[in-house]
Amino acid sequence: MQSEFFNSKLPRSATSIFSQMSALAVQHKAINLSQGFPSFPVDPTLIELVDYYMRAGANQYAPMAGVPALLAVLAKKIEHLYGASVDPGAEITITAGATQAIFTVIATTVRAGDEVIIFEPAYDCYAPTVELFKGKVVPVRLTGPDFKIDWEQVRAKVSSRTRLIIINNPNNPSTKVLAGSDLLQLEKLVRDSSIMILSDEVYEHLIFEQHVHQSVLAWSVLRARSFVVASFGKLLHTTGWKLGYVVAPPQLTNEFRKVHQFNVFSANTPMQLAIADYLKDPNHYLQLSKFFQQKRDFLTAGLQETRFKVLPSRGTYFLLIDYSLVSESSDIDFARMLTTEYRLASIPVSAFYSNGLDQKMLRLCFAKDQPMLTAAINILKKV
Ligand code: PMP
Ligand code: GLN
Repeated sequence: MQSEFFNSKLPRSATSIFSQMSALAVQHKAINLSQGFPSFPVDPTLIELVDYYMRAGANQYAPMAGVPALLAVLAKKIEHLYGASVDPGAEITITAGATQAIFTVIATTVRAGDEVIIFEPAYDCYAPTVELFKGKVVPVRLTGPDFKIDWEQVRAKVSSRTRLIIINNPNNPSTKVLAGSDLLQLEKLVRDSSIMILSDEVYEHLIFEQHVHQSVLAWSVLRARSFVVASFGKLLHTTGWKLGYVVAPPQLTNEFRKVHQFNVFSANTPMQLAIADYLKDPNHYLQLSKFFQQKRDFLTAGLQETRFKVLPSRGTYFLLIDYSLVSESSDIDFARMLTTEYRLASIPVSAFYSNGLDQKMLRLCFAKDQPMLTAAINILKKV
């Protein structure tokens, strides 16, 4: 809204593409492979734990940084997976989802005029949040099918005003997984600077085949200047619970918490207690890749019988399809047409580029039950 009374702080932002496509899917009773959320139920053991803690009276404010039992379990998990020793009391903060974590990291670090390097395709909340704090977004554009990073191009975008580099690994929507050589390049780039890193690792456990998750937590130079963001929504099939966390060295965590306390103060108590118990069994997250790889393979195999080209998904619960043999429409028009006429909702990949780059690609979410994936394949065979 622009009027003489109100000047929008985000004049270029509309309702997110995820909300738009999900609403269109509901309106047209379409199979919804657009917004990324699982269609299958949460483990009953986890529900019982939440129920237990709610009935036991754990319904008031959690400590600002998070429930100590959960912080301790996370520190153990990080040490086990990435060999990093993390002080749970001083380096981990529980947030109301990864989105709040990202918002608060940017609020903590970015001042007016600071530059923030963002890789596109980029998850939707990064750029608007930087703009809210009067930072300048400096995009590095990666293109399909490989979305390979040219580190010389990144180096050329670094200036004395660069404050933050945001990476998302594994990447939504490209599914790109960073290699050790990428992290090495990033380390070289920031080593002698005051640049900080926001590493969005919400899909750390959704990674396929030979790919290994390179967390910045395992790279000492990066870890010393990074905020690492994770989401329990992805880990536990609970996107509606809106819980996540941030790991950062003590000084950065201290600054983060100053903002966090005025942003949400603390995240919900009974679920934190329940998750702390639940994560004591590492199988609850170590099995995730296998589980999602089966879904990815099922959808990929079904799509071989269509006119769409599948880009192999390396991580996350998304895959990209190229429809250039099917239509010349823009990806936004094509995604809308698929939803309204064929009743299948997807996300046009151009929505992840600030310049609207249209590569004739759609993103499909395969965190869905077998009947939904089968129905989606059957629809796409007819297009
Ligand atoms: N980052 C990325 C890359 C995401 O895909 C998402 C949402 N799926 C988020 C952050 C936000 O996570 P949350 O739902 O925990 O806010
Ligand atoms: N992360 C989800 C996706 O990429 C969407 C979350 C949201 O709607 N904000 O689809």
